[in-house]
Amino acid sequence: MGLFDKFQKIQQSIETLQQYSDSFFKVVLEEILSSTEAIIDGRKTILAGTNNYLGMPHRKECIEAACKAVREHGTGTTGSRMANGTYSVHVELEQAISRFLNKKHTIVFTTGYSANLSALSTLVGPKDIVILDADCHASIYDGCRLGGVQVYRFRHNDVSDLEKRLKRLIKKGTNILIAVEGLYSMLGDRAPLRQIVELKKAYGAYLLVDEAHSLGVLGEHGRGLSEEAGVEEDVDFVIGTFSKSLGSVGGYCSSNHKELELLRFASRPYVFTASSSPANIAAARKALEIIEKEPQLRSRLWDNANLLYGQLKEMGFSLGPEPSPIIPVRFSEIPKAFAAWNGLLENGVYVNMVLPPATPDNTALLRCSLSAAHSREQVEAIAKAFQKVKHLA
Ligand code: PMP
Repeated sequence: MGLFDKFQKIQQSIETLQQYSDSFFKVVLEEILSSTEAIIDGRKTILAGTNNYLGMPHRKECIEAACKAVREHGTGTTGSRMANGTYSVHVELEQAISRFLNKKHTIVFTTGYSANLSALSTLVGPKDIVILDADCHASIYDGCRLGGVQVYRFRHNDVSDLEKRLKRLIKKGTNILIAVEGLYSMLGDRAPLRQIVELKKAYGAYLLVDEAHSLGVLGEHGRGLSEEAGVEEDVDFVIGTFSKSLGSVGGYCSSNHKELELLRFASRPYVFTASSSPANIAAARKALEIIEKEPQLRSRLWDNANLLYGQLKEMGFSLGPEPSPIIPVRFSEIPKAFAAWNGLLENGVYVNMVLPPATPDNTALLRCSLSAAHSREQVEAIAKAFQKVKHLA
């Protein structure tokens, strides 16, 4: 066995997929025109798969804040938060997120991935148990693996399956942390958070909610599904990312448990990596301010989401379970999904192609994500492009 033999399988899969679409592996956004348009393969293309829910990457105020931060603090921190990488901007952003979420403590991480990696690998250990929704993001799974906690999965959004596991596992007499997402990244559906909170309380468990796709998207003030469901006080740990509605790079974990602060000393993904660049921090901070001041962005996002969901539904596509800014369109056959994906690009629309095993139910998904920055005309153009590939679904 040579070192690289294990890559043969992946190489074969790539070659098989290349038969369907050569361009799939070569998508380059050659020129970014705005939050909703780019030049791809020389063609002006509507971006409908970028998780850019509120159009923040191109807001003048965010760009100015990032440029100012570079001028004042330099391009990078060249150090970990533990050493020389904690600037006043990192501390101020942590305070701003705590204020926004009404939590006592917040730690900012270099990415959302490392926020989950840190939280799951450090808050719980080999003697504890994590029960997670089967559709949870890879970073939640990886965090569990890094810390060596015992992991049990429950069927996606199936509260009775969660209760079955809680009933059995409570007998082990150890700590249990339930991990779920707010809005799920592939199907765009909400976790049944109220019922999950009831179970958490009944069984004396802890609850972690990853609001990566729901920050700025759900809740009267944009605080996520916990706000929308009215259960913020019952969520022990909130995870978030700057890479979606905030249009930057970074992540956070917030909590009212004062022990969260100890992650700064105990968590390897926090201690052993460089802190976020001042530009990323400043852009995220400005975007958070805008979310607080402009609830109309959220309304616009939902108008766009409802419009596209309604139009695709009317065309007869098989979609995710509920209208959402994340709209997965199912294709039962992979070659046809590729043909549709190519067809959309030829018609000037980019969406994400998601293939099994990354998809929840083993079908191929063309995953759309909407933005408040999309115009009504753009949403209609996306729908029209889907109409042209309908025969493939
Ligand atoms: N959690 C969820 C649910 C996500 O979807 C993602 C990113 N796709 C992350 C965490 C990681 O966030 P980041 O991109 O900031 O690393």
